[in-house]
Order: sequence, then structure tokens, then C-alpha cells
Amino acid sequence: MNTIKNVLNEFLAIKGAKFVSLVYTTKGHNELARYKILVGCDIERIYRRDYAVLRRMVRKTSLLAVGHPKRKALLERLASMRESLKNQIGNNKRFTRQGTFESLGNGVSKLFTSGMYHVKGIQVSKVKICKACAHEQNKGEVCESCKAPLGIYKKVNSTEKTLAKNEIRRKEKQSKIREFKLSSSQLGVAKLNGKTLEIV
Ligand SMILES: [Zn+2]
Repeated sequence: MNTIKNVLNEFLAIKGAKFVSLVYTTKGHNELARYKILVGCDIERIYRRDYAVLRRMVRKTSLLAVGHPKRKALLERLASMRESLKNQIGNNKRFTRQGTFESLGNGVSKLFTSGMYHVKGIQVSKVKICKACAHEQNKGEVCESCKAPLGIYKKVNSTEKTLAKNEIRRKEKQSKIREFKLSSSQLGVAKLNGKTLEIV
């Protein structure tokens, strides 16, 4: 019998780098994709590294005129990152959901309130899957095979500041952090394949 606990324990006992591979529909874009994430990494360290990188960028930006969109974007991003460092990390009551979840280690936690498992890690790969014909591709908003849309993508007219912010985010390692919510029935069919927990 493959109980969730057995598979999970076996997985969490793996030393060093380990991965979770899963098929997931994102809420925002309603996009189906297969993800591979690296779990067990030091998330706090990633936030701190990003913060240091941003601080260096701000120093270089000091030459840009006050009110310049790039300068504004950077300062706003820095402020928001300072806030998340303060809140998400450590023992802030608002974000750590103390007493509401059990951390199983390696980025895996179980929420008492919903009974859902949360898996958090760094995205290693993502392959989009067409819901109409099951074609798989790395990029694009439309299926290369049957031309069906792969998700819902809103066209936004971004301001210069927003574009600058997006550019900053691309430099941040934390933009690769993914968190997935899995039910026990989804985890119930998980299989261990080497160092990867595969969830169909
Ligand atoms: Zn298709």
C-alpha cells in the first residue's frame, strides 16, 4: 500500500537536492503545465540575496533624476521587499500562519484548516500543456499544434514604471519561487522516481 505518509517520508528523507514534478493549473492564467521544482532550498537566503542585489542597483540609480520611472520602480520594489523580509521570514504572526500548519520540512507543509499540502520550491522547468490536444511546449500563449489558447492572458497597457518593475523582478531569484497546493488524493498517487516525487 502506498500511503501518503510513506511516500512523503521516503521523499523527505532524501539527502541534498530533491525535486517535485507535478501537473498543475494556475489560477491566474488558467494554464495547465508540468512543473519541476527544487525543494529544500533556503528561501530566506534567496530573499536576502535579492535584497542585497537590489540595494546595489539602488546605489547605481542615485544618478537618475528624482521622479524617473526606473528610479521610482526600484525604490518601490525595495520597500516591498524590505516588507516581505520583515513579514514572511522569521516569526511574523501575519504570514507564518502559526499554529495553522505543520511543517514537514523541505518546503512541504500541511495546512490544518484545509487539510491541503503546500509544496514550495524553486522552479527548474515548466512545460505548458494544451488542454484541447495535449500538445506540450515551453513558450507561447497559443498551442503550436491546434492553435487553441493555452490560458487566459489579459492584455495590459503597462506604464513605464510597471515595465521597469517587471524588469527588476526578472533579475530576482525569488521570482522563481513557486508554491503549489495539493490535496491528499493528489498526493496519494505520488510516486518516487529517484530524487523526484512525481505527482500526476
Ligand atoms: Zn493544442
